[in-house]
Amino acid sequence: MNNDITSENGGVVITKMNDLLNWARLSSLWPLSFGIACCAIEMMGSMASTYDLDRFGVFPRPSARQADVIIIAGTVTFKMAERIKRLYEQMPDPKYVISMGSCSNCGGPYWQHGYHVVKGVDRVIPVDVYVQGCPPRPEALIGAILELQKKIEGEQLIKA
Ligand code: SF4
Repeated sequence: MNNDITSENGGVVITKMNDLLNWARLSSLWPLSFGIACCAIEMMGSMASTYDLDRFGVFPRPSARQADVIIIAGTVTFKMAERIKRLYEQMPDPKYVISMGSCSNCGGPYWQHGYHVVKGVDRVIPVDVYVQGCPPRPEALIGAILELQKKIEGEQLIKA
């Protein structure tokens, strides 16, 4: 974060507005709790005491309207895809998507013969970060959160 600190000239700290907003946003990511298959067990494990995603400011929300990130953790069936799209549209901007696990990334074990499975949630909504694995471990999800935070840090919400 680039701060202009002029405390020696009167105790005033001037921080660029974009940096301040980004710092606030990346430090309080609120994912919509939305597990749709076995990967969701690892997502829940990431939020429990051992891995404690809370320490990164990540706290699950029960409503899409309060969430700024959705973690697609599981198998995306065609029936579920419609719901995912609707929930994504209900989230306020700026919003982000983490695709967690092979099923969500590309159809996973259903890739070849799963007539009912979408071959990647990015065919339904845009994905910011992909997490590999079947299922990915909590460390991998934490890595994705850190990657997303880096992406947010570089954004410019307010254009000069
Ligand atoms: Fe289950 Fe593996 Fe698919 Fe995750 S990627 S939902 S663990 S089958």
